Amino acid sequence: MRHTRITQEDSGQVIDRRAAAIFVLVAASILGLPGSSAGAARRAVAVSHGPRTRPDVALTFDDGANPENCRRILAELVAAGVPATFFPIAAAMPLDPAFWRLVVAAGDPIGDHTLTHPQMPTLTPAEQLGQLEDSRAVIESITGRPPLDVFRPPYGAFDGGTLVAAAAAGFPTLLTWDTTDRDTSLHGTLEQRVAAAELGTNGSVILLHCGPNATPYLVPDVIDFYRSRGFRLVSVPTLLGITWDPGTVSVPSAATILGSLAPLPPTWQGGDIVGAAGYTPPPSPSAGAASPSALPSSLPAASPSPEGTVAESASPMPTAMASSPATPAPSAAGQTRSVDGGMATRRRPRS
Ligand SMILES: [Zn+2]
Repeated sequence: MRHTRITQEDSGQVIDRRAAAIFVLVAASILGLPGSSAGAARRAVAVSHGPRTRPDVALTFDDGANPENCRRILAELVAAGVPATFFPIAAAMPLDPAFWRLVVAAGDPIGDHTLTHPQMPTLTPAEQLGQLEDSRAVIESITGRPPLDVFRPPYGAFDGGTLVAAAAAGFPTLLTWDTTDRDTSLHGTLEQRVAAAELGTNGSVILLHCGPNATPYLVPDVIDFYRSRGFRLVSVPTLLGITWDPGTVSVPSAATILGSLAPLPPTWQGGDIVGAAGYTPPPSPSAGAASPSALPSSLPAASPSPEGTVAESASPMPTAMASSPATPAPSAAGQTRSVDGGMATRRRPRS
């Protein structure tokens, strides 16, 4: 097995395993240095981008609060032949379970983004572990597939306990991002969002969301931008060198994905995140400064963005993210640049 899987069938083992993991988490928390004195406490490795030596970038889509916009986005990706990696809020997946099965059919990985989208550092070790195990169970129940063993913390917020919980839940890699379109911002124009998304470079992980009204409009432009400059759009496992078995891939047509959805209005009408009926998008973080490296100077930095903001004080971001701002993309097609000599960490799957 590639990782510890939680199944409905072995709930007794789950309880035992969770109890053991919680013991390790609590012990590690008390001792302050998970993975040292606690012995068995492993930590996930936090990364924010892939190798800077290859012209690869990965589009990632978080949340899933608006299934209609999620479908529009997947249809654009399929029509363009572009893979992407999704990190749904597991509690939002039942809004449109069929959509998530279409994602799997398309061969796109689904990673973990918790059950209810909390600020992980505000939770106890046991609560952090519970978020990850419960979200894994939902993903497996809805898609019939294990998630990609990569965890993206909501708001990019994590602490040492999060790294231990992620490893214990079978997610050896914690992934943030180095570029974002800030599509959850309540401010800025569509053009500013597109410009922000186009600040990536070799190895960039680009954060977008399937929910905001702006995102379906900007995805085609972002794809065209990177392709026209010689970048290859890849999935997260390809970017990070993580083995990933997509299972049986049978890429649905854009028409199948869209179904009877009304077409998008020809131009973006503005507005922020629109959640489906009966679902409230996650609240804004109580604090957090926008990551200036990922923003065009004209975009307001202080916005109540539910995500795409990084609470620096609460979230010790990976060094590469904090010190290596996304730089302008290569201007010549096929050009390969080496920005900082390599990725933060390259993971291999656990045996
Ligand atoms: Zn999120």
